[in-house]
Amino acid sequence: VLKTIQVMEESPLFNAGKGAVFTNAGTNELDASFMDGKTLNAGAVAGVKDVKSPIELAIKIMTDSEHVMLSGEGASAFAKEKGLDIVNPSYFYTENRIQSLQKIINQEKTELDHNDKKANFYDPIIKDSKFGTVGCVALDKFGNIAAGTSTGGMTNKRWGRIGDAPIIGSGTYANNQTCAVSCTGSGEFFIRGNVAYDVSCLISYAGKSLTEACTEVVHKHLIALGGDGGLIAVNAQAEIAMVFNTEGMYRGYRHSQGDHFIGIYEN
Ligand code: ASP
Repeated sequence: VLKTIQVMEESPLFNAGKGAVFTNAGTNELDASFMDGKTLNAGAVAGVKDVKSPIELAIKIMTDSEHVMLSGEGASAFAKEKGLDIVNPSYFYTENRIQSLQKIINQEKTELDHNDKKANFYDPIIKDSKFGTVGCVALDKFGNIAAGTSTGGMTNKRWGRIGDAPIIGSGTYANNQTCAVSCTGSGEFFIRGNVAYDVSCLISYAGKSLTEACTEVVHKHLIALGGDGGLIAVNAQAEIAMVFNTEGMYRGYRHSQGDHFIGIYEN
């Protein structure tokens, strides 16, 4: 999960690490979280501005501190103490993301970086702005599952706004008995719906399959709240679900035996 997310954090194409969206103040403020399905240990970081790999910091908080979530300058100080890579905030800058901010900076709204319609897919600016928050769920050969999520949040966010990505149970959750889940979408709805944990609850309390649980949460519970987005999930039996209620969601999987898939839109 760490290595997969780091590849995407280092790519300018995704809204995580380098290429993160901009806040109203023209800064990049990064959120990430990780959960280990075997131990139910978790780590999360919110609103850091100079840590190269927020997912690495989230895992470090899990393994090297007594806490689950650290934020802002304190989280950066912890990262420095632990020898993680610290970068100049300009490292996260990309031209596309600044343009996305400039389009809505004078409006009282935040914007998902991937909610544009299919018809705009070939517009070069819009196209690049489609790449979103990143997440990974994984199953190892011992039957252990884990989930991680990393994001810059929403374009034009203000006032230290934190989304669902660093909130365990909302944007990320993992439990070997049920599932590992990573979410993307309008974070406020995912927080209010406890989306990642809701999937796990439907499996443990209502006996739903992974696919049934994900479908119910994304297409019923989330829609009832007015929320848009999706999630990826895996369980210890190697079942995979990638469900969304938006036009598309960049996604893919690979089995150790080589079976693999990538997708953008529903089909
Ligand atoms: N869920 C993220 C947030 O609200 C945004 C995203 O998934 O693109 O911060």
